[in-house]
Amino acid sequence: ELAESGEEALEIIAELCESNVEVPLVVTDQIMGGMHGDELLVQVKKHLPDTLGIMLTGQASINAVGEAVNKADLYRYISKPWDVEDFILTVKTALDTFYHKKKLLLHESYQQTLNTVLQFVLQPKPFKEQISEVLKIVLKAPCFCEEHKGAIFIESFDQATLNKQDLEEIANEDKTGEFSYLSEVTDYKQLAPQVQLINLKNGTRYYQAPIVVSTNALIGGEQEQEDSLSENIVGLLCLNVSASYQPSSETEAFISSVCHTIANMICLAQHILAIEQHGLKLEALVEERTAALNRALKTEARNNNILKKTNKELEYYATTDELTGLLNRRCLFERADQEAYRSKRYGRNLVLAMLDIDYFKAVNDQYGHQAGDLVLAQIAKVISANIREPDLIGRIGGEEFALIMPDTDMQGGQELCERIRKAIHEEQIMIGSESVCVSASIGITSLGTHETSICAAMSRADQALYDSKDKGRNSISVNFDDSLS
Ligand code: GH3
Ligand code: MG
Ligand code: MG
Repeated sequence: ELAESGEEALEIIAELCESNVEVPLVVTDQIMGGMHGDELLVQVKKHLPDTLGIMLTGQASINAVGEAVNKADLYRYISKPWDVEDFILTVKTALDTFYHKKKLLLHESYQQTLNTVLQFVLQPKPFKEQISEVLKIVLKAPCFCEEHKGAIFIESFDQATLNKQDLEEIANEDKTGEFSYLSEVTDYKQLAPQVQLINLKNGTRYYQAPIVVSTNALIGGEQEQEDSLSENIVGLLCLNVSASYQPSSETEAFISSVCHTIANMICLAQHILAIEQHGLKLEALVEERTAALNRALKTEARNNNILKKTNKELEYYATTDELTGLLNRRCLFERADQEAYRSKRYGRNLVLAMLDIDYFKAVNDQYGHQAGDLVLAQIAKVISANIREPDLIGRIGGEEFALIMPDTDMQGGQELCERIRKAIHEEQIMIGSESVCVSASIGITSLGTHETSICAAMSRADQALYDSKDKGRNSISVNFDDSLS
């Protein structure tokens, strides 16, 4: 553009600015009609700080050049007459400098925006909230600042519920709904993998950029086979630009970086989700295992109780005569031997007696075997009621009983046996409505001074028992031990 004066130049510059045309360079004389060149450059600098100035004159004072250099950041001073080649070269260099600086500034601002995005992404916030915020930050970048419109569409993580071809709109800064048609981009997987500037018939211009994730970085994605670099479009970034926007490789590189960042956010969010789900599964498993363990413990406790009860029963049956509840033969002999050993060790007396019911066969014959059992049980009760705490009583044969009396001398033993004989004889045993009486014969002996086993003493007591039978039954007889006889 050519101007005749400084004033006209300012007017032209204002018009150019209005129609979005850049003014990289102003070349001016110093002495013109009206405004001087240094003043013009200062005025231009006020409105367009990046515009460069070249002063082209032979009449400028040192002061004016100094003013232009200091206040208007004069790019070059060329004195008249000028060399054409030098002039053209100077203009070219000035233009290069202008565009280079502009590129650098743009690059820097994109870099700053990306830094802001990255810092934000590092904050522990929910995925959707982060994506919305990222879109807001991105739309503040220089090329979008007039529009502030954009949207991010992403495949749902939950592929079980969403058709793989569907994109979910998860962030939208479009107040007018201009991006709604994008959710109808069905086969987005077939889109070109680069950033594209789309011009719509209605004049809308927008960048459409695929969000690409390498397949093996996706949770639940198809595992890579031969091609480990296989890539997958999982979303779209759409950003409106103004009608005057000039495409630039910087902007496209910036959009690419944003898409890359969003792709990484998706992978991270998916991994977090997978970890959470895994955690839930683990918790459920632990719960299930704990319940199973508790069940097993309960069963074991029940089994233990059964075992304890069974052991008790076993012990009972192993030691007890079922009919009378007295000690059985095996247990009586075992315990009797222990008592004999103890008596010897502590130098104490021990008396033992054998008791046999008289004419018991006749009871069975007359009243039956069952009645006989009843009589046996009743006699056992009578004997038990008449002995003392440390005494042992057991049924050692059909109607034969053995009585061990520890810490007892012969006289004491005889008295106790006499009491038992008497009690048996006096006992009225009811069989049906009939009362039956029985008697018993008893043989008594004591443990010999040198005897540590009960065996010989048992024989002696048996002998004494036969004596009682011989005497006519219902009586007691004594057979003194060897050391006394
Ligand atoms: P004695 O006065 O000589 O001892 O005569 P007894 O009839 O008592 O002796 P014997 O040895 O001839 O008979 C004992 C009987 O005891 C024979 C048997 O049927 C009976 N008997 C043995 N064990 C049991 C039992 O457990 N229950 C019943 N009801 N009878 C039994
Ligand atoms: Mg007998
Ligand atoms: Mg008998």
